[in-house]
Amino acid sequence: MSTYKVVIVGAGPAGYFAALALQNLETPELQFSIDMIERLPTPWGLVRSGVAPDHPKIKSVSKVFEKIATTEKFRLFANIELGSDVTIGQLQEKYDAVVIATGSTIGKTLGIPGEDLLGSLSAADFVPWYNGHPDFANISVPLDCETAVVIGAGNVAMDVGRMLALEPSELDLTDTADHALEIFKESKARKVYICARRGAEHAAFTSPELRELPKLEHTNVLMNKSDINGAIARAGDSPEKDVKSNLDAMLLIAGLENKGHARTIEFLFQHTPISINGTDRVESITYSTPKGEVTVPCGLVITAIGYQAAGIDGVPYESGKVLNKEGHVKDNIYVVGWAKRGPSGVIGTNKSDAAAVMEKLVSQLAAPKNAGDIAELLAGKKHIDQSAWEKLNAHEVAEGEKAGKPRRKVIERSQACEIAGI
Ligand SMILES: Cc1cc2nc3c(=O)[nH]c(=O)nc-3n(C[C@H](O)[C@H](O)[C@H](O)COP(=O)(O)OP(=O)(O)OC[C@H]3O[C@@H](n4cnc5c(N)ncnc54)[C@H](O)[C@@H]3O)c2cc1C
Repeated sequence: MSTYKVVIVGAGPAGYFAALALQNLETPELQFSIDMIERLPTPWGLVRSGVAPDHPKIKSVSKVFEKIATTEKFRLFANIELGSDVTIGQLQEKYDAVVIATGSTIGKTLGIPGEDLLGSLSAADFVPWYNGHPDFANISVPLDCETAVVIGAGNVAMDVGRMLALEPSELDLTDTADHALEIFKESKARKVYICARRGAEHAAFTSPELRELPKLEHTNVLMNKSDINGAIARAGDSPEKDVKSNLDAMLLIAGLENKGHARTIEFLFQHTPISINGTDRVESITYSTPKGEVTVPCGLVITAIGYQAAGIDGVPYESGKVLNKEGHVKDNIYVVGWAKRGPSGVIGTNKSDAAAVMEKLVSQLAAPKNAGDIAELLAGKKHIDQSAWEKLNAHEVAEGEKAGKPRRKVIERSQACEIAGI
C-alpha cells in the first residue's frame, strides 16, 4: 500500500471538492493523507465570505465540507498563509503534490476617471465587508446617499444590488456581519441602479436569481419593457436555452407594477460607465448610452465586473488565473476552482472540475516521498485545526441562536483564535 501526502491550499469549495475527489480515488493500495492550509482563521471560502446572507440555503453545502474534513487522514491548518507562513517551494519539497485552491479575490476595475473617489468600491471589498471577512471589516461604505449604482450584469452585481435595497430588518435573522447590519440600518439609499454595458440578452445573471426578485417584499424591481423586448428581438428566433430563460424572467419583471415601496432596484441596460464624478467623494456617474451621454447623481458606486487571482510567489499567472494545462501547473503543483478557471461557475461547478484535476494528479504520481509535512515548517506559528475550528463554529452558531440567526460571525482574527483556543 502507498500513502501519498497531498497539501491543498485554500479551504473554499474547490479545495474541499479536491479533497473529496482524492478520498473517492482511494483504493486499498492507494491512500492519501490530506493537509489543507487556509489563510483565514475560518474555512469555507466564498461560501462564508461571498454568498449573500439572504441566501442561507446555499450555505448548507458547508455540511458537505465538514463531512470531508472529519474523515481520517484529513487535517486543517487554518490561520496559515501560503506566501507568508510557508512558501510554495517548501510545500513542494514536503508533499507528493500541492493543490492550489486559493480562488480569485481581486476585483477587476473599469479604468475610468473617478474610480478612486470615496464612495467608489469594488464588490470584492463590499461583499466580504457585509459577510464579516476580517480583512474588510474597516472599509468605508458611505450609505448616506439617496442613490447607489452597481455596475455589472452577473449574480454578484445582483447580490450587491439586493443587499443595498433590502429593507434592513429582512437581514436581522441572517448572518450579515454586525458592523454591516448597523450601517444598512442607517442607510439613506432608496434607489439602487444595476447597470449593464450591453443589452439584456448578454446579461450573465442566472434565471433562478432573476425569478426571485419579484418576491422581494419591501423593494420595487424595475426593468424597462422596451429594453427587454429589444433584447428579445436581437436574440432572434432560437436563442440559447439560458438566454431564453433569462429573457423570460426579465420580461416577467418588466411587466410588474411598481408596488410603491420606499426602496427600488432599477436595471439599466446598454449603459457603459465613462466617468465617476465628484470632488472629494462620488457625486454622480456618467454613462454612454445609445441615446447619448447620461449623468446620474449618486453617492455610491460599486463595481461588480469580475475577479482575478492574487499572485503567489513561485506560481505562474496569466490573465488573472494560475497558468495551467487542464489543472497541471508545473512539477507537482496543480490548481482547481476559481484560481484555475477564473471567476466562473457556481459552487457545484468546482466539484466536477476538481475531480478531473485530481484524476490527472493521481495519474502523474511517482513513488511517495515520505519527506515530512507542514508541521515541521510552521516554526511555532499557531494554527487552527479541525477541532479548534469546530469550537469556533459552535460558538458562532450558539451566539447566533440567541438572536434567531444561523450564526453570529466572529470578525477579529485575534478573537477568533482566542475562541478557537489557540
Ligand atoms: C459574491 C459572490 C457570491 C456568490 N454566490 C454564489 C451562490 O449564491 N451560489 C453559488 O453556487 N455560487 C456562488 N458564488 C460562486 C462560488 O462562491 C465559487 O464558485 C466558489 O467559491 C469558488 O471556489 P474556490 O474554492 O475556487 O474559491 P474560494 O471560495 O474563494 O476559496 C479560496 C480559499 O483560499 C483561501 N486562500 C487564498 N489565498 C490563500 C493563501 N495564499 N494561503 C492560504 N489560503 C488562501 C481563501 O481565504 C479562501 O478561503 C458566489 C461568488 C461570489 C464572489
